[in-house]
Amino acid sequence: MRWEAQEQAEQVAGLFGVTGLVRSVRTPEFAGMTFHEVLAKSALNRIPKNSAMPFDWTINPYRGCSHACVYCFARSTHRYLDLDTGADFDQQVIVKVNTPEVLAAEVAKRTWSHGLVALGTNTDAYQRAEGRYSLMPGIITALAEHATPFSILTKGTLLRRDLPLLARAKEDVHVELSMSIAVHDDDLQQSLEPGTPTTAARLATVRAAADLGFRVSVFIMPVMPKLTDSREHLDSALRAIRDAGASRVAYGALHLRPGAREWFFAWLERERPELLPRYRRMYSRSAYASKEYRTWLKARIDPLIDAYGLRGSADDDYRATKWKRTEAVGELANPQGALF
Ligand code: SF4
Repeated sequence: MRWEAQEQAEQVAGLFGVTGLVRSVRTPEFAGMTFHEVLAKSALNRIPKNSAMPFDWTINPYRGCSHACVYCFARSTHRYLDLDTGADFDQQVIVKVNTPEVLAAEVAKRTWSHGLVALGTNTDAYQRAEGRYSLMPGIITALAEHATPFSILTKGTLLRRDLPLLARAKEDVHVELSMSIAVHDDDLQQSLEPGTPTTAARLATVRAAADLGFRVSVFIMPVMPKLTDSREHLDSALRAIRDAGASRVAYGALHLRPGAREWFFAWLERERPELLPRYRRMYSRSAYASKEYRTWLKARIDPLIDAYGLRGSADDDYRATKWKRTEAVGELANPQGALF
């Protein structure tokens, strides 16, 4: 039976409070997933002028993320759709199917500012759905054809599909590529990030991009206390990242805002109950790791970053002055506030 014949179109206007809903789709090819296809009115989201973020605009063609990281800070955004922040976030993905066309019209306007556009700041543009909808090639083309610099942060190895297109775009506009690789232990990685490509596959994607001349950043983010912050783990992570040809590393300690917090604590209870009291103490008053922990982490990881030559340079950041860093170190001051 052709998979098209198995699609379940629901045609329910206004479902989940999503405007512009066209249909909801399930296919055997993406078992367990439901894609809610919507027509977006706009593609570009403006970042507030006083924001510390190093970009001016964002594009999020998907809401929800099949990469299903238990620590994902974006989980709370599903609440606004009357969906839950746990399994629904992983399995019910809103797809803005007309993003490339809407974007092309927005960047073609004479009033377009040509500010830096970031993809991957909320959910991952190269999650599994992109294999079905192929929105990114149209997005990349629209940005490149209208002299718009952009950055992509992802965990998705589907990025490789678009590397030749990105390499051509790089001839015309500034293009930054970053890969998020936080867990360098295969069992732990599959448990914490069950929908993501393996660490090895992501490192191979970094290598493929570096071979095409990209100065690739790798985000070791989040660093999780007593799970991924041992000297051995960080050392082997940085060695593998250096060997993959990355130019620099950014890192940040785990941040647990409501939505992610409940889901992560449930994972701890199931998988590492001995750590639960420590995490409850650490995140009892704030979504952020304590200043003491972040100072400790900095002292541990910075010498390793230097030893592996992964400090990078100001040239790696289009808006280097807007990165809020702690004294030129690789820790992002608000690591998961808008980045994962
Ligand atoms: S952390 Fe990133 S890749 Fe993981 S589920 Fe969230 S948006 Fe997707």
